[in-house]
Amino acid sequence: MGNSRDFDIVIVGGGAVGSAAASLLAKITKSTNKPLKIALIESQLPPVFDPNQVDPRVAALTEKTRLMFDQIGIWSKIVDKRACAYKAMNVWDAEGTGRITFDCQQVQQPNLGHIVENSALVSTLIEHIQQQPNIELFCPANIADYQLQEDGITLTLDNEITLSGQLLIAADGANSAVREQFQFATKQWDYGQHAIVTTITTENPNQLTAWQRFMPTGPLAFLPLNTIGDAYCCSIVWSQDTEEAERLMALDDKEFCQQLSRASEHCLGEVLKTEKRYLIPLRQSHATDYVMPRVALIGDAAHSIHPLAGQGANLGFADAQVLAEEMANAYARDLDLGDLTLLKRYQRRRKPENLATMAAMEGFKRLFGSHNSALRLLRNYGLSGINRLGAIKNTLIKQAMGL
Ligand SMILES: Cc1cc2nc3c(=O)[nH]c(=O)nc-3n(C[C@H](O)[C@H](O)[C@H](O)COP(=O)(O)OP(=O)(O)OC[C@H]3O[C@@H](n4cnc5c(N)ncnc54)[C@H](O)[C@@H]3O)c2cc1C
Repeated sequence: MGNSRDFDIVIVGGGAVGSAAASLLAKITKSTNKPLKIALIESQLPPVFDPNQVDPRVAALTEKTRLMFDQIGIWSKIVDKRACAYKAMNVWDAEGTGRITFDCQQVQQPNLGHIVENSALVSTLIEHIQQQPNIELFCPANIADYQLQEDGITLTLDNEITLSGQLLIAADGANSAVREQFQFATKQWDYGQHAIVTTITTENPNQLTAWQRFMPTGPLAFLPLNTIGDAYCCSIVWSQDTEEAERLMALDDKEFCQQLSRASEHCLGEVLKTEKRYLIPLRQSHATDYVMPRVALIGDAAHSIHPLAGQGANLGFADAQVLAEEMANAYARDLDLGDLTLLKRYQRRRKPENLATMAAMEGFKRLFGSHNSALRLLRNYGLSGINRLGAIKNTLIKQAMGL
């Protein structure tokens, strides 16, 4: 039938994580030289990278993630668009004296990571995917129907094309329709907070440093970007209780910049200019299981976490890498790629790290949101104490880099 296509794996969601998964899976071949056939379904047209405009949505990518993009063969293309290598991190507590600084020189690395715009990342991935003969991109396309059979899974798109495969991978983000369709149990926490996200211009250069100030209402992060023209730029994520976030959103640009300068303790002098501001609800969610026969969740579809430590996308890329490793082993041994025993191996390898990161973010949120004076003393001593302990600090830096 002209309207039905067979693949090995069908992926729903061509954001950063789904596109990275497609690119990794497409590299899997057998001794017979037959690569896996992948379908990637995305409902929105891919973002376009604009060299003159900064995308407000950025991610701090770890060294481990950078190595993955190198393995796919596109890291240099991402850098050609725009990526800012940051050399240091400066974290401090608004209510005390606690402060910790991390420097790449302490761990003999050229940087601590890269700040990359989502449009640079996803557009490069999609350009790469369009050049792979064994990946077919269906975009824009939506799913009209799912049929789960014992020996495979079939999806019908709204243009009536049917796609079948041994495995369906859901990379369709925090509000995953696939997760809903197959009734994966999911635990959700709402923080009653929103993050204001935008790009700002500051009086002083960002020193290739990520700045994070913890306040009782939530953290404020300045993530360094490359200088554009002669403007010193940062991307900000300002997490706040919802009411306060809405008040800040309602301010005019001049007043917002003044309040932001004060909230950042003028770490980069005055905030001179803000681009359009976006308000994003902050929730954590975690699927109890990531897999069922013939279906696997990855990225935000499996777990979405507080942006506090900038780890969400990095955890999703690690899911994609581990699932691709399991698929490579199974394909080499001619196993069924949708087999539950096999998929559970992926879940066992990823769940502990994802859960541990979520628990750490929850702990941070409570520790810095607390007005309890004993906890305040502890966190001030903790930050400054760790700052003086070289070995523990180096371990923390390496963990944050994913090494
Ligand atoms: C304010 C903020 C700051 C953050 N900062 C960082 C950071 O510094 N570092 C970091 O690692 N992470 C960060 N994150 C988290 C990071 O943005 C997410 O973890 C990451 O984008 C998840 O990628 P994903 O591909 O799983 O999901 P998404 O990016 O949500 O992509 C899902 C894709 O699926 C598509 N889709 C959805 N439904 C369907 C459907 N039914 N059919 C077809 N396609 C569909 C969507 O169009 C989209 O393209 C931050 C998050 C927030 C909110």
